[in-house]
Amino acid sequence: MIVKKITPRGFCKGVYQAIEIVKQSIENKSLPKPIYVLGFIVHNKHVVQELDKLGVITLDDRFKSRLELVEDIKEGTIILSAHGTDEAVKRKIIDNKLTLIDATCNDVYKTHDSIKEYLNKGFNILYIGKKNHPETNASLSIDSNIKLIENIEDLNEIKLEEPLFVTNQTTFSINDILPIHEKIKSLYPNSVITEEICNATRFRQNAIIEGNKNVDLCYIVGDPRSNNSRNLVKISKELTSTKTFLIESVKDIDLKDLENVNIVSVSSGASTPNYLTQEVIDFLENL
Ligand code: SF4
Repeated sequence: MIVKKITPRGFCKGVYQAIEIVKQSIENKSLPKPIYVLGFIVHNKHVVQELDKLGVITLDDRFKSRLELVEDIKEGTIILSAHGTDEAVKRKIIDNKLTLIDATCNDVYKTHDSIKEYLNKGFNILYIGKKNHPETNASLSIDSNIKLIENIEDLNEIKLEEPLFVTNQTTFSINDILPIHEKIKSLYPNSVITEEICNATRFRQNAIIEGNKNVDLCYIVGDPRSNNSRNLVKISKELTSTKTFLIESVKDIDLKDLENVNIVSVSSGASTPNYLTQEVIDFLENL
């Protein structure tokens, strides 16, 4: 069996930066302790568990909003995750006199800046992203009038007005965004559309399209919460017609799936640590 290692894969610059910020904060004696991270610093539970062992407390409760999570904290330092954070939550942290450290990726802030620029010019804003994802929530929090769609069908349900500025979540699928843009252009011909999929996402998605030629099976190593990992699976299935599994680690491989497989490809999401992917590659090569 041939194992194709698709590159680029794994950590992007935003994820490296966010994890590094957390590690430096633990070492920094001048910062008030404990060190909290609001939400998963990046969407991978292995990364979160490793930081947990270093003493970091991740604030994550699906029954509580981020605002409620912050309200319970009386002292310490709160680090904001790479995905960006709701403006009201940032204000709450400052009002509560907690120390705030921002690990938001610059590419997310680039989208925020373009939203603010077009709001100032008097445009209506349409954001294409996944509902309830922290990055989407952070972008929507910039202004209560920003409209959200998740897919092309949503355009049938929403009433928009020009002048219209259109932007999107950085980890959106390159395959899904273009038809949405085409439909927006036909409905609102004067709209200003930017395509804000970050380079890390774009390069990983293109590498799957290129690397999956003649492949029988593809493994994407990533956490189910990771939007960019799930989109790699979607791209692999839809654009390369390859049987594809999202696995969190080598433990998720089912040998039955590898029967009659001659070529297997392996890639990973932007929040997946390299050692998890390497374990999968080593296991497959040993077969
Ligand atoms: S996937 Fe893109 S936007 Fe998200 S952290 Fe990585 S570089 Fe930044």
